[in-house]
Amino acid sequence: MRIQNIEIGSSDILLKTPFKTALRTVNTLESIIVRVTTESGMVGYGETAPTEAITGDSKHSILDALEVISRCMIEKDIENKERLLSLVHHTVEKNFNAKSAIEIALYDLWSQMAEMPLYRYLGGEKNLFKTGITISLNTKEIMVADALEAVKNGFESLKIKLGDDPIEDISRVEAIYWAVGKQISLKLDANQGWSPEETVRFLADLEKKAIAVELIEQPVKREDFEGLKAIKERSTTPILADESIFSPEDARVLLEMQAVDLINIKLDKCGGIYKALEIADICQEYGVQCMIGCMLEGAISVGAAAHMASARAEMITLYDLDAPILCKESPVIGGAVFEGADIRLSEKFGLGIKDIKNVKWLTNIHKGTSNNR
Ligand SMILES: [Mg+2]
Repeated sequence: MRIQNIEIGSSDILLKTPFKTALRTVNTLESIIVRVTTESGMVGYGETAPTEAITGDSKHSILDALEVISRCMIEKDIENKERLLSLVHHTVEKNFNAKSAIEIALYDLWSQMAEMPLYRYLGGEKNLFKTGITISLNTKEIMVADALEAVKNGFESLKIKLGDDPIEDISRVEAIYWAVGKQISLKLDANQGWSPEETVRFLADLEKKAIAVELIEQPVKREDFEGLKAIKERSTTPILADESIFSPEDARVLLEMQAVDLINIKLDKCGGIYKALEIADICQEYGVQCMIGCMLEGAISVGAAAHMASARAEMITLYDLDAPILCKESPVIGGAVFEGADIRLSEKFGLGIKDIKNVKWLTNIHKGTSNNR
């Protein structure tokens, strides 16, 4: 069965409130959608969203890379999984957003053909998850109010965005900790905002104030592996690598160095499900637990991430898949259900997506367009 056409489109989804980190402020989620159709009429959906400050890929560069990869895939046999994965991962260098989007659509198709939900196709059993939620970087007062609101809405794990000033950041964490109570798990994410020395001082200050946090995520610049290791050696708070880990190779280097305690896997960073599974397997070798995270992405790709996490449930024990619940409205019909802190995977074959509303289809690649680039 051949791939007949690949459509690429975009959908702007408004957020309930602006999303703020040490790296950026965002009001709208710019979802990029891929729809792969086979000659028998089977449809697979994929998605990604530009996060230039992290992956380096803009909307336009993603659209361009998707076109290049798609052109190579037209008329190829959908059942030749090895060949298609090779085309996804080797047609262009880097461009992990584009690779992830198109690969999700392929996995959607492969699991539909196997007549299984994607998580079962990947070997998973878990179909219910509880996600934490992000508290955007803001004034202390707004962050406390947002944290209280999240707890009221049933969230038991908060990821607090920090990273603009270690002194101010301490008072933010302190205020939130005492406001929400000890039973709520606090994860801190500085998004590369501090130096190793500032991080060690910050964590020592927290300890002095008897404020317990579950982990600290990516406090220093992504390339500063030695800095991460120095922090790990000098503090007891678990260190989670996020921006430092794009590829399975990054994971192996960091874990071999014993530079971090935990790893955050995101499909948009590593180029999709295949590499994400590989990173989880490397973590298993080293006995290191993982978080499954997401960028500001829509329900298709975040749902796909949850399916992937189900397949490695023994290693992926932390869930940070809140992007769809930060949106005012999801354009996706069917698929995973995101309700408050709960994520429920669809039992339909594949991702279980029926349709998507409000997509502006930009390109339709088919046989006639496959070789004219
Ligand atoms: Mg992060």
